[in-house]
Amino acid sequence: MTITVIGTGYVGLVTAVMLGSLGHEVICVGRNKSKVQDINKGKAPFFEPGLPEALQKVLDKQNLRATTELTKSVQQSTIIIIAVGTPTNGGKIDLGQIRFASRDIGRAMRKSASYQVVVVKSTVVPGTTENVVGPILEKYSGKRVGEFGLCMNPEFLREGNAVNDAMHPDRIVIGKSDEKSGAVYKSVYPTDLCPLILTNTATAEMIKYVSNSLLATLISFSNEIARICEKTPGVDAIDVWRGLHLDSRLSPMVNGKRIQPGILSYIYSGSGYGGSCFPKDTQALAFFGRQMKQRLTLIETVIGINKTQPHRVILHLKNAIGEQLKGKTIVILGLTFKPDTDDLRESPAFGVIDELLELGAKVVCHDPQAYRDSVPDSLKRLPVKLAKTISDALGRADAAIVLTAWEDYKKLTPAMFKKYMKVPVIIDGRRIYDKTLFISQGIIYRGIGYCIE
Ligand code: NAD
Repeated sequence: MTITVIGTGYVGLVTAVMLGSLGHEVICVGRNKSKVQDINKGKAPFFEPGLPEALQKVLDKQNLRATTELTKSVQQSTIIIIAVGTPTNGGKIDLGQIRFASRDIGRAMRKSASYQVVVVKSTVVPGTTENVVGPILEKYSGKRVGEFGLCMNPEFLREGNAVNDAMHPDRIVIGKSDEKSGAVYKSVYPTDLCPLILTNTATAEMIKYVSNSLLATLISFSNEIARICEKTPGVDAIDVWRGLHLDSRLSPMVNGKRIQPGILSYIYSGSGYGGSCFPKDTQALAFFGRQMKQRLTLIETVIGINKTQPHRVILHLKNAIGEQLKGKTIVILGLTFKPDTDDLRESPAFGVIDELLELGAKVVCHDPQAYRDSVPDSLKRLPVKLAKTISDALGRADAAIVLTAWEDYKKLTPAMFKKYMKVPVIIDGRRIYDKTLFISQGIIYRGIGYCIE
């Protein structure tokens, strides 16, 4: 089948590669000429483990090409997938990219004689596919839904594991506007790939928000518990999670072995969630709730806890080196919102850095990916130093704060910190170090969920 994917970001490109690997002829439509050229040469426009190799494979098979020509691509395709960004603006979902893409697709479809299915893969609030995308497509194509198909197919991939998630999905959810759309889009996927749910478009949209909101809720729950543990002498939240994780409903024994379901990584205290999904999706859902006159007070609290979590890191820092941060050099280890991605969107690191700068600290940052090829605008605007190596960064530090659980940081030992730093002060914002070992080796150690009275 010929499939056009609009948007060459994390979701669009990975989806295109996955569909190409299934044997479809995929056209990836982007807006930036040089990025499109890079994709055609096998270079991914962002860092994602395994993506360059997977991209090269589908290019070699001639199952994928990238272009800036939306109209021609749409006209050649049976399926058109919308994978553009859906940021929030003042907490409300901003559908600007969705509206523009729908308009351009509609215009292109006007001249197509064959039956085509438009699929919304971007995360959108319930009702958007039917009440926004459908009408725009109808207006510009001059056709009615039914003459063309309309589906909603939320994406569940995780950055850092996106290729694997896309190639081996745990579920495919297809919201269909009618039977024919659902049947045609369903046929894109092999029947034995994974469980597939066919539902209506609003339910598909809701499933995505609920999935992300549950994970965000677990994180904020874990961070709220961290706060009370910090106030309770002798209690470390990490020990509490160890005890909780052993509940066999969370980590069951299978064939005599305890399994560690991925959900456990969300029940753990840290510096808060970030990225291009949880922050904006929880906000969009909360806004949607207010619009529907059904306030989602739990989700609003989850957002509130997360917004104040970077400040908790500063409290630990002050606890370790004193209230006065003016003139102190603080090193940030990790800028991306999680390891194995170069994505800085909504990273908790920005909250920490902004507060440090406000307090007059000098900030030195290190990250293995965030500015490897070029310095993104979100970092350029900040008066911080970007270190090339960990040892360069730590050499000038009065304290170091770990904000991303990169493998490179997990490997650092107390001896290394002592070698690189004047006084080894570590604020473990991701709880990646063995507290007992670090303290016994002379490190001044503080961590989220653990407080020295
Ligand atoms: P992104 O910002 O990385 O990519 C979106 C791309 O679409 C951008 O490159 C933009 O230039 C392009 N675009 C916008 N309008 C276009 C048009 N008319 N023609 C061609 N290109 C156009 O965003 P993303 O992270 O890939 O997310 C896309 C959607 O998928 C969002 O709704 C997001 O919430 C959702 N999602 C993201 C993830 C994730 O981990 N990133 C996971 C699941 C779902």
